[in-house]
Amino acid sequence: STDHSSATVKTTCPYCGVGCGVNAKATGTEGDQTHPANRGRLCVKGSALHETLTPEGRLLKPSVRGRDTDWSTAINEVAGAIRESVDQHGPGSVAFYLSGQLLTEDYYVANKLAKGFIRTPHVDTNSRLCMSSAVAAHKRAFGGDLVPGCYEDLELADLLVIAGSNAAWAHPVLYQRMQASARPGRKVVVIDPRRTATSDLADLHLALRPGTDTILFNGLLVWLAHHGVVDKHYLDAHCDGYEDSLAAARSVAPNVDAVASLCDLPVEEVNRFYEWFSEHPRTVTAFSQGINQSSAGTDKGNAIINCHLATGRIGKPGAAPFSLTGQPNAMGGREVGGLANTLAAHMDYDSPGARDRVARFWGTDSVADGPGMKAVDLFDAVERGEIKVLWIMATNPAVSLPETDRIRQALARCPTVIVSDCVRETDTARYADILLPAAGWGEKDGTVTNSERCISRQRRFLPLPGEARPDWWIVSQVARALGHGPGFDYQGPADIFREHARLSGFENDGARFFNISGLANLTDWQYERLAPTQWPARGGEPDADAGAQRLFTDGRFATGNGRARLIPVGSRLPVRPPTEVFPLVVNTGRIRDQWHTMTRTGRSGRLLAHRPEPFIDVHPEDVRAYQLMPGGLATLTSAHGQFIGRVRVAPEQRRGEVFVPIHWNRQFTGQGLATALTDSLVDPVSGQPEAKHGRAALAEW
Ligand code: SF4
Repeated sequence: STDHSSATVKTTCPYCGVGCGVNAKATGTEGDQTHPANRGRLCVKGSALHETLTPEGRLLKPSVRGRDTDWSTAINEVAGAIRESVDQHGPGSVAFYLSGQLLTEDYYVANKLAKGFIRTPHVDTNSRLCMSSAVAAHKRAFGGDLVPGCYEDLELADLLVIAGSNAAWAHPVLYQRMQASARPGRKVVVIDPRRTATSDLADLHLALRPGTDTILFNGLLVWLAHHGVVDKHYLDAHCDGYEDSLAAARSVAPNVDAVASLCDLPVEEVNRFYEWFSEHPRTVTAFSQGINQSSAGTDKGNAIINCHLATGRIGKPGAAPFSLTGQPNAMGGREVGGLANTLAAHMDYDSPGARDRVARFWGTDSVADGPGMKAVDLFDAVERGEIKVLWIMATNPAVSLPETDRIRQALARCPTVIVSDCVRETDTARYADILLPAAGWGEKDGTVTNSERCISRQRRFLPLPGEARPDWWIVSQVARALGHGPGFDYQGPADIFREHARLSGFENDGARFFNISGLANLTDWQYERLAPTQWPARGGEPDADAGAQRLFTDGRFATGNGRARLIPVGSRLPVRPPTEVFPLVVNTGRIRDQWHTMTRTGRSGRLLAHRPEPFIDVHPEDVRAYQLMPGGLATLTSAHGQFIGRVRVAPEQRRGEVFVPIHWNRQFTGQGLATALTDSLVDPVSGQPEAKHGRAALAEW
């Protein structure tokens, strides 16, 4: 046997989409100096990684309806439930809910089994809650889900616009890189209703009214046009839709006074932002959940991209719109088709010939007919009884989806809930009929892709505890039990990665964008040693795109005619404004030292020390108006539930708006959840829920 405990391996941190390289062993972690994402840096979550690898609470054995069992029995139970459901109710009665925590290889195999062999289209992922609006905006503008820039652009930019992101807490190492690249003349604008740790870097903080981002960026487009700053040559050569987008922008944001009034900002601040934007050709606009988690998230993304296209600020060093993804492998899941509206390898169902091509590649008669249900719709279907078998992998929807009480009812009603996880007791696992012990970080091998399209290895350095197995193995065993063995005869993750890479270039010679076929012939040895690699990575010579830092450098996009599209967007505001009964706007988000629903980071005392309990950030005047005790407990009550937290007097909040952290779950508090305060309202294009704009009443507890 191998002694895994003393070896140091290069791997990738699982606690955010920056994707830092880590030198890891069981007793500690340090930053990998050779990894391009972090160059040796780690944030507190990365440096406390080993503290979150505790054996306590691990799920170590398969169980079926509360009784521990062996793998063979559990696999047969899963396969039997799927077979019976398909026979009686059709393939669409089976659904998969995946996670940006899965490795690309796990994701690929789950997607292949679901869409290619069970033939259900209902495969969605918790990435829906994270960056699906950015995905939709990319597709509308560029013809594909393509992040144009890279981390280096954040350092090269002369104007850094950070919109809807507390990067200092949510993407700490990227924030450190932004800090370290400060130089005389570099300007930073932070756009966020509240003043956060990220605002410390700002030369200008625009504390706009929540939900008015499209107005601010539409106003910018109008201003740029009025002042002759648009790049007519670039627009003529490479873009469609400028005139229509400008007309739409003019209709909602005709001048700076109107923008300032609608966004609740001082006129001079809006002017300063617009002037700085016009003066700095090297501009990066980094955007994240404050943009995405909105019922107008896709429009917000396109309003930002419109301004970059109109000024030709894309595909150049230090100039790009840049989506910061939340999860370690949100991007890898997108690559394999983990979103319900995609098929595989960045192909949509309606991509010409895609269904036939994928079916032939997978060696199956046909694939699922068309797009499946997105997360919120999917759980509505579970609630209605339409989904009979739901397989949830590496995520905790009973905490993370909005209107969590309804999600719990839906899970309780579902005839067969299968949960694969490395943690035994989660809020979701309580509803599992079949529990499958999955390998955790450090115990599994594969790849993840970070926010700058960089594929990076997660490597195993710990033995598998108990009966835990990698997710790809579990899914492959179920596929075999269903009679699909030949398509799932993988000996390890390298086999899966090679197949995934081959599919990206299969009969797809014209693809210039998501194509990693240059990695399709890696030997096991090369896969084991694979260095971080940005895609595209095509095979063949010459290949100017291999390991491309930037896309669209030649002004050609992934649309049918090769031209980018500016998208006319209006000013759609949050769907449910405050009322007399629920007078406060609830903003939800991350804190610095926790990850998602705390099932792992909550085990580290060091990480808990930063914010040891749920809290509510309240403006001082609201503290007085609601007669709250600073440091005392208060309740936020919405139409869907309640959240109890300690009152923090927070001058950084706008009046009438509160902030609560997303992380605490019933395992930790026994109380309500932040997601009980947000509605299931979604963006009509992306399906992403409006997690930044709940409404609630506030009172002393
Ligand atoms: Fe891990 Fe993100 Fe911190 Fe890097 S910034 S160490 S990826 S949590």
